[in-house]
Amino acid sequence: MKAHDGIYLDGAWRPATGRDVIDVVNPVDEQLVGRVPAGGPEDVDAAVRAARAALPAWAATPPAERGAFLAALRDALAARQDEMAETITAELGSPLPFSQAVHAAVPIAVAGSYAELAATHAFEEKIGNSTVHMEPVGVVGAITPWNYPLHQIVAKVAPALAAGCTIVLKPAENTPLIAQLFAEAVHEAGLPAGVFNLVTGLGPVAGQALAEHPGVDLVSFTGSTAVGRQIAATAGAAIKKVALELGGKSANVILPGADLARAVNVGVANVMTNSGQTCSAWTRMLVHRDQYDEAVALAAAAAAKYGDRIGPVVSARQQRRVLGYIEQGVAEGARLVTGGPEAPRERGHWVSPTVFADVTPDMTIAQEEIFGPVLSILRYEDEDDALRIANGTVYGLAGAVWAGDEARAVAFARRMDTGQVDINGGRFNPQAPFGGYKQSGVGRELGAHGLTEYLQTKSLQF
Ligand code: NAD
Repeated sequence: MKAHDGIYLDGAWRPATGRDVIDVVNPVDEQLVGRVPAGGPEDVDAAVRAARAALPAWAATPPAERGAFLAALRDALAARQDEMAETITAELGSPLPFSQAVHAAVPIAVAGSYAELAATHAFEEKIGNSTVHMEPVGVVGAITPWNYPLHQIVAKVAPALAAGCTIVLKPAENTPLIAQLFAEAVHEAGLPAGVFNLVTGLGPVAGQALAEHPGVDLVSFTGSTAVGRQIAATAGAAIKKVALELGGKSANVILPGADLARAVNVGVANVMTNSGQTCSAWTRMLVHRDQYDEAVALAAAAAAKYGDRIGPVVSARQQRRVLGYIEQGVAEGARLVTGGPEAPRERGHWVSPTVFADVTPDMTIAQEEIFGPVLSILRYEDEDDALRIANGTVYGLAGAVWAGDEARAVAFARRMDTGQVDINGGRFNPQAPFGGYKQSGVGRELGAHGLTEYLQTKSLQF
């Protein structure tokens, strides 16, 4: 795999200050696929300075022109679609068809949506004797995870650019190669120097330096709740804007009268996708007691079909974490119906698709985000009981409701404490606001709602 030995700073690849490096390893077979610099606080500082210097001119660029740059970025990404998919497969381990259809394709669509939004969004509003201007927040520090590595970069960088902000990106250490490829596309699109900067590096070093930097006006973070909490505290102390996309433990609620086979099969696929490394995954399936045994049998059969087609999890650490949760599920009395805590292969970071039945709401596997291919099936007595269980975690990112009658599903969904709900298998919409209630986060990404995160208002009175 192609890897740059520098950081992308002020429009060019430049050597990092220190000599530390990050080895990028393929989770399928543990082979080294690349090596990138582990930038330090000096590199972050140089990148923030470059972003700040570029801010006045970029903020003053008419939105339609910023949109034209975004259209060029979308085209540059589209021209590299195959290379992007291969890179993500090499460093994340996801099967190539999935990398092509999702990891590479969705970010191209999202970049395109912001090319349009930049050109069409109302950056000005009249309220009585006032004109309200939506102005860019300033320099954005973006910290992204590895699970949808390009999507999460584009979901921050594209709206920030559309808003007129400049950016320093610190991508996840497991997946820096796709971030470098993204920087190449930015360069090709002809963005002015300093508008976008990339510092690869370790979270507690480069990430923390970015989150703490006084020259950053907004920190946008996607990742674990633990790190998100720390970043929010740092940003709060500095009275800085913060956007957080954190974990989830989303409920897939199957009401009596739903098409049970479809609801279970789509539900299992939703969890197994990307080896369970999806923050919005429906990891808790809630089934009425009268249909419970049938649903468990359907889910076991569906999960067993996946075998190792889903790919490994990202790292040895993640594998240990997921297998540990499976052991804990067994220890707490859940019934293993397929999969289990043994790694299915010696080499690589594999976890068997796993389904637990007889899971009760108080169990660890019903409360904590596992981030692996593990489904918990819970039994409910009636709709109120289902709602209590669905809302009974600290998270509230996504969810699903299935019912024979759409109005009934909608009524249930409106009572769920969560940011997104798919009704009877509704499709992912890359323009709909995405983000969490409760401890799943602060703020929204994607579409017009995602754009406004990067804007602040100024009212002029006449
Ligand atoms: P993480 O939160 O440690 O990493 C996410 C990003 O934050 C990375 O870029 C990392 O380098 C950076 N980071 C880490 N420590 C930092 C610090 N002190 N200051 C600033 N930035 C820092 O996540 P992880 O360790 O890769 O994964 C652990 C768990 O987090 C997973 O098992 C999963 O439950 C959850 N997770 C959630 C999402 C999501 O999309 N919501 C994504 C990845 C991981």
